[in-house]
Amino acid sequence: MSNNNIFNNIDLHSHSLFSDGVLSPSDVAKRAKSHHVTMWALSDHDCVDGLAQAQQAAENFAIGKFVPGVEISIEWNDVAIHIVGLNIDYQNETLKNGVKSIRDGRFARAERMSKELEKVGIHGVLDGALKLCKNPNQISRAHFARFMVSQGVAKTTSQIFENYLVPGKPGYVDHKWASLEDSINWIHNAGGLAVLAHPGRYKVSGTAILRLCADFKDLGGDAIEAGSGSHSNEQIRSYTTLANYLGLAVSCGSDFHSPKESKVDIGNAPKIPPELKHQGIWEKLL
Ligand code: AMP
Ligand code: MN
Ligand code: MN
Ligand code: MN
Repeated sequence: MSNNNIFNNIDLHSHSLFSDGVLSPSDVAKRAKSHHVTMWALSDHDCVDGLAQAQQAAENFAIGKFVPGVEISIEWNDVAIHIVGLNIDYQNETLKNGVKSIRDGRFARAERMSKELEKVGIHGVLDGALKLCKNPNQISRAHFARFMVSQGVAKTTSQIFENYLVPGKPGYVDHKWASLEDSINWIHNAGGLAVLAHPGRYKVSGTAILRLCADFKDLGGDAIEAGSGSHSNEQIRSYTTLANYLGLAVSCGSDFHSPKESKVDIGNAPKIPPELKHQGIWEKLL
């Protein structure tokens, strides 16, 4: 396959049931292939355990290029932010221990969330959410939201987030995640490249986002995920321009979690408008 073909359909952000996705890594690979993805990264939250299966499946389904990835949960100035690592060595001990250290707090956080939800009359959420999740240490707000939808608390997981699971709502509790610096260092230590995930999703001011991007650059970050499945066309354009201004590359990914829930399916990650000056992180992943 020539490089040109490899860059045809790039999707560098997706999830499996090793975090809060619903498909196995192998089924994500199958879906990626059937949606004509030519370069694919699996990037589970705080977890690299699905990558061996993903790599094997990518080979079996003859996906042009598999990129081992991870999405690390961090806090920056008290805001929860996500940093994607691409082309990581998933055997690397520093990275493995780093993501384990943040993952291990998830269960205790889930217990606290469940207690808070009891106070507003929503019962049994921890047990229900645990049944939807492969490993209790990987429990996430997405599992809570899915269980609560199944109980008829709201029609969609987005409504559950809005009303129960975001800061200021009854089921939200603070949590200690990694620092921005740690996440970038772990990724670099594992030979990978660090990408600021979906900047358009963070509920902070435009000035705070500029400071976040500048801090990310100063700490050695590599790219901004301008082409995110959760960005509007206008956001794709502004983050591409910002990345270029800061001397950062850009990345593209659907952030696929589930055929039913995800706004953007795997293989439909937005493309960066070719007329905008940019450097694609994909050029550095071959
Ligand atoms: P956690 O890692 O437990 O904090 O959960 C965060 C995950 O919840 C994200 O990775 C998304 O998959 C999902 N999520 C966050 N916000 C929303 C939302 N507004 N609607 C639906 N899913 C969301
Ligand atoms: Mn998620
Ligand atoms: Mn994310
Ligand atoms: Mn994600």
